[in-house]
Amino acid sequence: MEQKQFQAESKRMLDLMIHSIYTHKEIFLRELISNASDAIDKLYFRSLTDDQVGKSRDDFYIEITPDKEKRTLTITDNGIGMTAEELEQNLGVIAHSGSRAFKSENTLDENTDIIGQFGVGFYSAFMVAKRVTVRTKAYGSDTAYEWQSEGVEGYTVDTCEKSDVGTEIVLELLDDTDDEKYSEFLEEFRIRQLIKKYSDYIRFPIRMEITREKLKEGSETEYETSIDVETLNSMTPMWKKNRNELTDEDYNNFYREKFFDYTEPLLHIHNRSEGTVTYNSLLYIPAKAPYDFYTKDYEKGLQLFASGVMIMDKCADLLPDHFSFVRGLVDSEDLSLNISREMLQHDRQLKLIAKSLEKSIKNELAKLLKTDREKYTEFWKAFGIQLKFGVYNNFGANKELLQDLLMFHSSGCDDAEGFTTLAEYVTRMREDQKYIYYAAGETVTRCAGLPAAELVRDKGYEVLYLTENVDEFAIQMLMKYQDKEFKNVSAGDLGLESEEDKTALEEKNAAAKDLFEEMQKALEGKVKAVRLSNRLKNHAVCLSSDGQLSLEMEKVLNTMPTGQKVQAERVLELNPEHPVFATLERLLSEDKEKLGKYADLLYQQALLIEGMPVEDPVALSKMICDLMV
Ligand code: ADP
Repeated sequence: MEQKQFQAESKRMLDLMIHSIYTHKEIFLRELISNASDAIDKLYFRSLTDDQVGKSRDDFYIEITPDKEKRTLTITDNGIGMTAEELEQNLGVIAHSGSRAFKSENTLDENTDIIGQFGVGFYSAFMVAKRVTVRTKAYGSDTAYEWQSEGVEGYTVDTCEKSDVGTEIVLELLDDTDDEKYSEFLEEFRIRQLIKKYSDYIRFPIRMEITREKLKEGSETEYETSIDVETLNSMTPMWKKNRNELTDEDYNNFYREKFFDYTEPLLHIHNRSEGTVTYNSLLYIPAKAPYDFYTKDYEKGLQLFASGVMIMDKCADLLPDHFSFVRGLVDSEDLSLNISREMLQHDRQLKLIAKSLEKSIKNELAKLLKTDREKYTEFWKAFGIQLKFGVYNNFGANKELLQDLLMFHSSGCDDAEGFTTLAEYVTRMREDQKYIYYAAGETVTRCAGLPAAELVRDKGYEVLYLTENVDEFAIQMLMKYQDKEFKNVSAGDLGLESEEDKTALEEKNAAAKDLFEEMQKALEGKVKAVRLSNRLKNHAVCLSSDGQLSLEMEKVLNTMPTGQKVQAERVLELNPEHPVFATLERLLSEDKEKLGKYADLLYQQALLIEGMPVEDPVALSKMICDLMV
């Protein structure tokens, strides 16, 4: 028999496929089942107008037959079949959507995991089979044909015996190697698993003969072999069911099975959308962050189905980074099964779906915040940081969307563990209050203990306690909330003083100009200025900063692995009411050397109050002792 050559492109593709190091070889089954289902669709459609077909909806099926002795796996359907020309056209050339995208990409290297993500239909069979035999009889034809190929060398076509219309594909599996156990595709559990995973929702039954040893009727010791035909797919996807048909338990079970999480999810979001784009979505908010969530190994994404067939396990484009914790799936009739990853990224439908999902996730979270604070707090503890990064990232592009989902610790909460939203803060603001105050530090206790925080609280204003690295960056990105500006208690003018107070302070500052110059000189450029401040109530000294960069932000940035060090514009602030100030004034005329030492000591104290390291603890300790004796 004449051996025919594959077309050049197909050959290249096949070659790639066969030598693919791709680990998801298992998708071949999904591809073949999906082809079978399409073929049945065609004949079923035909049967609606053509009595000659002689079949009704329930007569159609796909059958999987593993044969361990022969090492073959056979996929049979009673769909429309193929004529000789169709065989030639369809299986001799790769000319279909998925494969065309593949060609246009023109990067046929091992790293193109398009094979795994989308499969390229029929050819994926060669990832697991050394020989593929297709026997098919087209509807309306008397002759059946057999197509056979062992891969790149080419293929043969001949007539064959086949009584029923439809197609049978026999895969002779590759020999097992140390790394690949192809024989596992003959195991019942593995086939079940693959069908559940990829093809559960195929609208026609996928059947398999199951052989079981059963006790003989009436006997307690004797067994007999029984063969049952079982349907392995559920045919209706859970997400296409009506919400009121489903219980919380259904949702939770599905989640655990599908996403391998033993903890119940916090929330499920089940939607059907019809309009510019049609899709069903079933999303979950997990209760806990997966162990790798905050590492770069974590891959965000939703499962993507095109008309019930899974085409991608983790479609990242469906989820914005700030909602990367969401698990779930989307099924749309508007997507093509063989769309490539490249094309998907630019797919208008997909973008619309992603936008609408984002909105719905946001709304559900906002609803949860309103209706179940405890649960929301649980959510917040697991994923809040992600939302704060979301506010900060992309130059604040998503801040409007996210700002009402944010929570912070605050002096307005009953305890240190409590959280407040910005909206709640604003409702508690006093009439004369201009700013939303915040203090930043490692812990609530640290923030609350900052001298400036104490002062603001004493004036009757609430202070947010920003304890996470990203907090202040997010807050600065927000700039304002409900037209109220944010104000770091440790920086700049807190807006707490009357004009008279301000003028009085300015005068005092001017009078002490020489003192401050002397101190600054002694501090050798460590501070940009020394000045008096009304920020301090009982304390003698504190460190504040001028400009955008706060001391807390300096700390955060300097722990980042970029190597670049930044420094906030430090200002040493003194309390004019504190006796230390009087001492300093006295030393300016009496003992400049001592003044220098005191300046240094005060600066180091201020560092400690801020939770920053002192430069030389040994020298500091020695200086204190010297002053004591
Ligand atoms: P695609 O499914 O993207 O079109 P495939 O390589 O999987 O690409 O299949 C090529 C073509 O072969 C299909 O479009 C279909 O016309 C035909 N085909 C494949 N499998 C079957 C089948 N089981 N029954 C009938 N036709 C089939």
